[in-house]
Amino acid sequence: MSIAHRIPFGVETDGEVVDALGVQRGLACNCLCPGCKQPLMAKQGDIRVHHFSHLGDRSCTNGQVMALTMAAKQVLAREKRMALPDLVATVEHATRYGLKRRNSLRAAQGTWKFNAVEIDQAGQRSKADVACTTADGTTMYVAIRVPEQSGGALVPEGRLNPGTLHTISMGTSEMPGIYRLEIQSIPGSGKANVSGVAPREAVRVAFDYFKANSSRVSASIKLEERDFHTHLVELQNSGARLAFTEASFIALCSAALVKPVQSQLAVMGDTSLGGTVVQARNLAQCM
Ligand SMILES: [Zn+2]
Repeated sequence: MSIAHRIPFGVETDGEVVDALGVQRGLACNCLCPGCKQPLMAKQGDIRVHHFSHLGDRSCTNGQVMALTMAAKQVLAREKRMALPDLVATVEHATRYGLKRRNSLRAAQGTWKFNAVEIDQAGQRSKADVACTTADGTTMYVAIRVPEQSGGALVPEGRLNPGTLHTISMGTSEMPGIYRLEIQSIPGSGKANVSGVAPREAVRVAFDYFKANSSRVSASIKLEERDFHTHLVELQNSGARLAFTEASFIALCSAALVKPVQSQLAVMGDTSLGGTVVQARNLAQCM
């Protein structure tokens, strides 16, 4: 089993995040996967590090990342402290006369203690996962990110199913993320439906554009005889994808023609309502 399928933490029925050592062996652990919410088995062998794994289905892609993220939040909420390096921050504020003034704040390396730690309560600060408030009432917002692990390629090599492609864009967390888009073409009457984190509006725009232009893509596409089901999987916990229309259009072409996209392709950028390609934002960050 590859390392990517080992889940370091499971979720108990009461929402507690636990490691595989402190629970009963096998399915008796009564834990769910933090990513796909399917039952996990606790593996407590002598050779490998204790871990959880799925029953059989290995299609779960975000269990490991979600397990690490949830465990980090739980530790922070329980311990209410965090070791931080030297901090230098520049704060801009307006004076009484409407002028802007900048102050530089410094804090030496050390352990910060918090009076209150609130998970997923960071409100409109969409980058943050945890709000930590110190004794003097200062709140700092913490974003927890799991860096991509080397070796476990997010965009797999080799042939994908027709209608499946990977796309990179900014998510609602304002961090670039990789998403896997899966469009299935099934016998039907020309309808589109959506599941997963896919934004409905963007799928509709892509589908309308596809309907209007499918004859220019290929005369063999018979839209009125197929339904298209769109599913979007978030591979990096970066929030719902914002730009989505262009990737959907390409995946629709691939699904309708039953031809896979080029191996290791990742689509960036977007298409506007009228079919104009919109340039990709933050190219450097996305790399
Ligand atoms: Zn899972």
